[in-house]
Amino acid sequence: MFARAMHSRDHPIVAQIVPIRRCNLACTYCNEFDATSLPVPLPEMLHRIDLLAALGTTIITLSGGEPMLHPELDDIIRHIRRRGAIATLITNGYFLTRERIRRFNKAGLDYLQISIDNVAPDETSKKSLKVLGRKLELLAAHATFVVTVNSILGGPLRNPADAVTIAERARALGLTSTVGILHDGSGHLRPLAPGQISIYERILTYEQSLFSFAQYDRFQRNIALGLPNDWHCRAGGRFLYVCEDGLVHYCSQQRGRPGIPLGHYTIEHLKQEAARPKPCAPYCTVSCVHQAAMLDAFREDPRGTLTGMIERRRQHNLAYRPPFVLKALTWAFLDGRKRRVLSKLALYFLRARS
Ligand code: SF4
Ligand code: SF4
Repeated sequence: MFARAMHSRDHPIVAQIVPIRRCNLACTYCNEFDATSLPVPLPEMLHRIDLLAALGTTIITLSGGEPMLHPELDDIIRHIRRRGAIATLITNGYFLTRERIRRFNKAGLDYLQISIDNVAPDETSKKSLKVLGRKLELLAAHATFVVTVNSILGGPLRNPADAVTIAERARALGLTSTVGILHDGSGHLRPLAPGQISIYERILTYEQSLFSFAQYDRFQRNIALGLPNDWHCRAGGRFLYVCEDGLVHYCSQQRGRPGIPLGHYTIEHLKQEAARPKPCAPYCTVSCVHQAAMLDAFREDPRGTLTGMIERRRQHNLAYRPPFVLKALTWAFLDGRKRRVLSKLALYFLRARS
């Protein structure tokens, strides 16, 4: 994924695709589900995956609604892998069983994100540790794919400290944890209250994945404080959201733009929509699109991006230790003249691969 992102700017790094809009839950902050939709027929889903593969998409993420309500989800995952993309799944976890996890292993799932909102269910969300704790144990014991537990802060969620309990439970089981900030119905920021900011920062110290939002400090601190970010959103090019009707949108929060059928979406659309300024960018909290932007920032200015990431993390956390891959990149790209020659070679080879 990294090598291909370095090689070219004209393919999607991530496409999120909806196999079913229906959800078994009804979280009050969510605008991405209904209670009635039928699954997208399997042949249509496979065709959409072929179209995404033809555009050069590296990661295909199944989201919803609740994607596990699709009766042929394993076939869809298998097809994503067959077409050479990384298969990822975002789920509320309610339907996970030992058998289901083993089937995901067999289908070749690469990555699963399970979202947990609180320790005990309440009127806002039933995605609670009380209900899903056992599912995390099953995942820790049986999954051969990477599991990330995502908790959120902000908005109507009652106990911000729950996010810490959830992240610590995930870590105790050897799973990765991330934290997001709740957005409103258009993907815009809802600033955190002062007590929530310290909780947010504490959880971010747990995040170790190179491409996690936490490593890209310039976004996350502004978001926590309710300040705008100065960045260019490349949704429509580097990130696509394909709804259940097969239309391409910028993201889950900007549906209808551009709203072009996937079958008509061309490389020219990718370039044009990626370049288009998005008025919603300054207060956007859609972290998967920020992560794609992080890769492009690295592509354009590897040294500046690495220096900025590490320095800003250290300003706020003296004990900050970059993850292994970040250390390796820092070694290659930052330290000493000879290594800078090496970094040029590394970029050359990354761009030469496709
Ligand atoms: S489980 Fe996910 S898709 Fe379903 S209502 Fe809650 S946030 Fe929305
Ligand atoms: S800035 Fe981009 S990712 Fe964020 S809400 Fe707007 S279109 Fe979506």
